[in-house]
Amino acid sequence: MDLKLSEEQKLLQDMVRDFAANEVSPKAEHIDRTGEYPKEIIAKASELGLMGVEVPTEWDGAGMDAVCYAIAIEELSVASAAVGVIVSAHNSLCVSPIAKFGTEAQKEKYLKPLAAGKMLGCLGLTEPSAGSDAAAVKTKAELKGDKWILNGTKLFITNGKEAGVSLVIARTEPDQTHRGLSAFIVPCDAKGFSLGKQEEKMGIHGSSTMELIFEDCEIPADHLLGQRGKGFNVAMYTLDGGRIGIASQAVGIARAALEASVNFAKERVQFGKPIATFQAIQWMVANMATEIDAARLLVHRAAWMKKEGMPYSPESAMAKLYAAEVAQRAVVDAVQIHGGYGYVKDYPVERYYRDAKITSIYEGTSEIQRIVIANNIFKDTLKGK
Ligand SMILES: Cc1cc2nc3c(=O)[nH]c(=O)nc-3n(C[C@H](O)[C@H](O)[C@H](O)COP(=O)(O)OP(=O)(O)OC[C@H]3O[C@@H](n4cnc5c(N)ncnc54)[C@H](O)[C@@H]3O)c2cc1C
Repeated sequence: MDLKLSEEQKLLQDMVRDFAANEVSPKAEHIDRTGEYPKEIIAKASELGLMGVEVPTEWDGAGMDAVCYAIAIEELSVASAAVGVIVSAHNSLCVSPIAKFGTEAQKEKYLKPLAAGKMLGCLGLTEPSAGSDAAAVKTKAELKGDKWILNGTKLFITNGKEAGVSLVIARTEPDQTHRGLSAFIVPCDAKGFSLGKQEEKMGIHGSSTMELIFEDCEIPADHLLGQRGKGFNVAMYTLDGGRIGIASQAVGIARAALEASVNFAKERVQFGKPIATFQAIQWMVANMATEIDAARLLVHRAAWMKKEGMPYSPESAMAKLYAAEVAQRAVVDAVQIHGGYGYVKDYPVERYYRDAKITSIYEGTSEIQRIVIANNIFKDTLKGK
């Protein structure tokens, strides 16, 4: 693994950093306060190729690698964690599995507009009684003639409100557990599809979190993604890549907290000196900087392994677990460094504090990441148990 960014990765970083600083950052507070979906920002992100980062150019993507993807999500999330997750959920949770498992016809119809940013995508996996236990999905899909009929409810779906297409994991074999699941491409204008409750959240305002309802929802038979009964594998493939995105989001939030803290510490004067001269403040900043670098290295390792075509499931779980914890420590310290100013909305660290928490919950909680990591370490011991 080369620790130096390639020319392409560096160019991408500079481009997204400029975009984030000039066009996302100035609107981040507004997005957070109003919860408005940042339509213009996503349109511009599409022009920059950020809605199909890893998709080959023949399918209208940017044809870049997984490290580029991690870099892009980090840079966007420094400016706005909401924008970071909208782009990440789209790329990781919908575009990537269609690129991997889709037929030529599915790619023509869905991957092209998704990768070009003409359509937003989401993933419907979670249900009221299937969260960490993804194999417990109850949404049913039955093949009737030339149509699949879906019935059930999905919960907490990022981008659900704006999406044109949803990747849905549903049960096709009622008598099986994870082998009974299949993946489907569901256009959001399909008959029998509707949106339910929109969640009001602690943070990442501007990113919609929706209930998706399927009532005799009809989709064509050829909208099965991958093989029947292999939906759990599609979901796990999807989440492995997704965790690189969320880990990058966490690194971005932590970096924003660090940068705000450094600036504040240089300016804030107490006892006749900038608070940056106090060792208590310096140590918090030193810890933040060290942990952020370590988290980014874990993220880039997982992304590099993905780029090289190596198995990277435990590595992406490690990256997400660690980066989420680093982000949470960083925002706590950032608020502390800001004192009272950290607790009020005049400074952005209050937003970072609220945004950071979700990184340890979605796309697998920190407990689930530890299970993935430990299962790999103890794989021989656990075989057949
Ligand atoms: C803002 C937001 C956006 C989301 N976006 C999406 C999306 O786009 N698509 C989608 O499908 N889902 C999405 N989710 C759902 C998210 O992935 C789940 O919330 C998450 O996986 C946890 O599931 P749960 O909420 O049901 O918690 P539960 O699974 O009920 O977990 C509750 C607690 O128990 C712990 N726990 C559970 N099982 C174990 C175990 N075996 N060992 C130890 N501890 C355990 C958990 O770690 C957690 O602490 C989103 C959620 C939120 C809040």
